[in-house]
Amino acid sequence: MHLLRPLVLACAALTFGSAFAAAPVLPQATGYQTREAWRQPVTPFRVADHTWYIGTEGLSALLVVTPEGAVVIDGGVAQAADMLLENIVATGTPIGSVKLILHSHAHADHAGPLAALKRATGATLVSNAESAVLLARGGIDDIHYDDRILFPPAQADRLLQDRESVELGGTSFTVHFTPAHTPGSMSWTWTDTRDSKPLQIAYADSLSAPGYRLFDNPRFPRILEAYRQGFATVANLPCDLLIAPHPEGVGWAPAATDDPQPRPMSCREYAAQAQQAFEQELAKQQVAR
Ligand SMILES: [Zn+2]
Repeated sequence: MHLLRPLVLACAALTFGSAFAAAPVLPQATGYQTREAWRQPVTPFRVADHTWYIGTEGLSALLVVTPEGAVVIDGGVAQAADMLLENIVATGTPIGSVKLILHSHAHADHAGPLAALKRATGATLVSNAESAVLLARGGIDDIHYDDRILFPPAQADRLLQDRESVELGGTSFTVHFTPAHTPGSMSWTWTDTRDSKPLQIAYADSLSAPGYRLFDNPRFPRILEAYRQGFATVANLPCDLLIAPHPEGVGWAPAATDDPQPRPMSCREYAAQAQQAFEQELAKQQVAR
């Protein structure tokens, strides 16, 4: 399915909201089935002066434009690759100007198009050691999912340590290891502007534990400590504006034509909510032991 968009898109996208009909839903994959909202394109919109939302209704992807090139953060599912490239162009950003690709965690619903994006842009794919291995395997032997959610393998070009930054065009992107949803989970912070004021943006990774074995997990013996570190780190991120790989979980509604962020959430609130859900699940699994 080709997703040619009208030329007016570039103008429409200059506003913080969007008011144009979205393109048709992206096709379902045969191996890894996802809900429709995760494959529903939306018109790209700005979340800050240089930061765009270019993902689908249910899966975030961001584009940060600097004077020396652009940065893509996450991509969603594999079949979103062409849509992302079209969205990048629609913001007025040449594909070849994308210099860095950052990502949150190596699961098929966020890392799916990273290999295709890297191929199309020639950008440097930035990860950490833990995530890079899973990226390179395309999700094979995931500690929670085995081989059930696979994606096109991607080779990381640069591996960061916790709190290290990568810089492009005067914007510094700092990685914060938030080992929870995956042991290699990464959250990112950078400073943009909005209404002529600095705006600290936090792209905080998933903190959920969907169906995970939390006690005596042979593949992740220190899983509880990891989650608690993740919650504490996210709670304390510099965070004027919070976005996450699953936008609806932190108060965004990317398909809404009037207000794409109807319920702004703080990093502290996000971490507290996630921790509460985690403790409930923990209590349940404790009883079942
Ligand atoms: Zn995930």
